[in-house]
Amino acid sequence: MKLLQQMTVMGHERVAFHQDPESGLRAVIAVHDTTLGNALGGTRRWCYASEADAIMDVLRLSEGMTYKSAAAGLAMGGAKSVILLDTPGQEPTEAQARAMGRFVDTFAGAYIAAEDVGVSPQFCAWMREETDHVMGDASHGGDPSPYTSRGCFNAMRACLAFAGRPIDFHGVTVAIQGLGATGYKLAKFIREAGGDVIATDVNPTAIKRATEELGVRVLADDQDLFSLDGVDIVAPCALGAVLNSRNIETLKAPIVCGTANNILADPDSDGQLLKERGIVYAPDFIANAGGVIRLAGLYLGLTEADIDDKVAEIERTTATVLADTASHASAYDAAVAFAKRRIDAGREAKARHHAS
Ligand code: NAD
Repeated sequence: MKLLQQMTVMGHERVAFHQDPESGLRAVIAVHDTTLGNALGGTRRWCYASEADAIMDVLRLSEGMTYKSAAAGLAMGGAKSVILLDTPGQEPTEAQARAMGRFVDTFAGAYIAAEDVGVSPQFCAWMREETDHVMGDASHGGDPSPYTSRGCFNAMRACLAFAGRPIDFHGVTVAIQGLGATGYKLAKFIREAGGDVIATDVNPTAIKRATEELGVRVLADDQDLFSLDGVDIVAPCALGAVLNSRNIETLKAPIVCGTANNILADPDSDGQLLKERGIVYAPDFIANAGGVIRLAGLYLGLTEADIDDKVAEIERTTATVLADTASHASAYDAAVAFAKRRIDAGREAKARHHAS
């Protein structure tokens, strides 16, 4: 499909390309929807198999940000950017970050950049040398992962209640994939609340820290996190697309709730399969919204107390969406519908304002 046609189908307002010969930057910014406000979304540095893959990624991710921000109750739209790397793991440079900052600045605030895969608070600080429209450097929110983890923990509470269980982590076992920035802190919340954690990570240092500091149990090499017996909640906190038609069939845990983006390989069919199997699924963009709430909240001038309230509200939003699942194809579908209702309400309010 041609790009403009794709934008029309997905509802994107604006997609811009930039190449900077001096720094070697090649980047795309996609602004999906600004009905509710300017659009904050991370900058991803990634080595894509093709330019078409990069474009599809930025279109998909920016659309997801629209729903994430709307469902989180933020006066924010949705956008995302990608920097195309020539080789995997290519080191970030200040020149590349500053060139990206100048690109971001051409949006005059309609797009606000932040951290994502391959982008650190330092990279954000370099971008910020060129524009005010960047969050996530040390002086502007820094690493938002503690908020993401707390929001996910709140979503888990709603999942327990929806599954008819007490909201109490004593006696609850959570299987976490990935003990990085979000997975480690999520494990800490669960352990502090009296829960048991079994986890896996490809990085032995991450495992060592979690076992030593939190008493997390480690998955044996021959065990598969997604088909473990005796697990109450599966929490993907590393990669996307980890649940698919095959492993959903053998999933034993009654609840899925993690920090990872795009947990379902196919949100439509996999979402339906989870519903058919009676597995409670906290839609990822609701469960992991704590980070964007923090950074967007600071950008919008919310107080720390307002931000904390919105992160706490993730529990209520998850509960609402789970309750709505009965009248939708899946929990994911119910979550998108929830977000779209907020966007529609924002559009109507704007129309009324313009008419008056
Ligand atoms: P991170 O890089 O700090 O941690 C990811 C961890 O997963 C690492 O320790 C890594 O070694 C491990 N890992 C990688 N592949 C693995 C595999 N196959 N099996 C087990 N472990 C594996 O990343 P993060 O910030 O914790 O983010 C994790 C996920 O959450 C990502 O999908 C990210 O997009 C999403 N997310 C993060 C935030 C945030 O605030 N950081 C916000 C929203 C969504």
